[in-house]
Amino acid sequence: MERSPTITTVVLDQFERPLRNLRLSVTDRCNLRCSYCMPEQDYVWLPREDILHFEEIERLVDVFTDLGVDKVRLTGGEPLLRRDLPILVKGLAARPAIRDLALTTNGVLLADAAPALKAAGLHRLTVSLDTLQADRFRDLTRSNDLPRVLDGIAAAAPHFPGLKIDTVVIRGTNDDELVALLEFGRRYGAEVRFIEYMDVGGATHWSMDKVVPRDEMLARIATHYGSAVAVDEHSSAPADRYRLPDGTIFGIIASTTAPFCADCDRSRLTADGIWYLCLYAAGGVDLRRALRDGASRTELVELIRGIWVNRRDRGAEDRLAMRDRAPLIPIDTLRRDPHLEMHTRGG
Ligand code: SAM
Ligand code: SF4
Ligand code: SF4
Repeated sequence: MERSPTITTVVLDQFERPLRNLRLSVTDRCNLRCSYCMPEQDYVWLPREDILHFEEIERLVDVFTDLGVDKVRLTGGEPLLRRDLPILVKGLAARPAIRDLALTTNGVLLADAAPALKAAGLHRLTVSLDTLQADRFRDLTRSNDLPRVLDGIAAAAPHFPGLKIDTVVIRGTNDDELVALLEFGRRYGAEVRFIEYMDVGGATHWSMDKVVPRDEMLARIATHYGSAVAVDEHSSAPADRYRLPDGTIFGIIASTTAPFCADCDRSRLTADGIWYLCLYAAGGVDLRRALRDGASRTELVELIRGIWVNRRDRGAEDRLAMRDRAPLIPIDTLRRDPHLEMHTRGG
């Protein structure tokens, strides 16, 4: 491990937002085809030779932690498809600068992977689960793997107390399952978080009428349980948390109707080393090239610092201000640049 040249103070962007949170995509491949993320028949994949090796990822992570990043989330595509992932987890978990090391998975391969991820030092786990109904799961993901996801959650829950379950809520698709999912989460001591359907790259079938706004979700949940009370906390985490009368906590991520760009300390690194300052950004910065051209840790720190201090991205807020909102990126444009896809950029 190259030694840190300087332990840097917090670096702020143009809206005083620190760089603290890194979403690290370890692969653009996926074993599901969720209708809100990968609805098309064919995809353009990143060239294999461009995918960062674990040592390259670790070198870049060290640069980011020099600049104040202390939260890292492994994502994808489906991160559990990356071979030997626990080796990367172990390497990252050994870095004291990383206070929070998490992973988001679709759960299909989780039952086998959970013990090794825990042993490698992963702190926290989020599993995406949109429905408990097998036929819906098939329609939503083009796969019959719901039983494997449910087995994965059952196997992982004892290893990862405080497990989170993320559900993208889509009107007419799964918006009648909020209570069922809350009950399911309770069974495993998992906190369920309902995510508003977002018009990110890849969501080529998105439309505003399929979005269920936060207030509507709260009203539906209140019909069954009584009113939920907002949990008073200040954090840059995207989920607003609520407590049901029986004490159950759940979250709502209102990224579409009430974006949280003002507090956004997140950026994303794709599996091939392109760094994005916003989920909605049209372009990114090629850190792979800088790294493979031999840039030193100090040079990479200065490169990233210089870009972050000029950051003005507020993608979801800009989208909210638009009239006649349609899917972000047409399919032909996506085919020309896979980096525009959510499954490449990392959710
Ligand atoms: N494959 C893993 C999974 O599904 O958990 C990790 C990558 S996935 C891109 C990360 C998260 O992005 C998932 O929780 C997924 O539900 C979310 N996501 C993808 N497309 C979305 C959309 N159009 N709106 C809201 N969330 C979306
Ligand atoms: Fe679904 Fe995640 Fe795969 Fe996207 S990357 S298709 S959200 S499992
Ligand atoms: Fe951050 Fe961009 Fe998402 Fe806003 S849209 S919260 S700036 S990543």
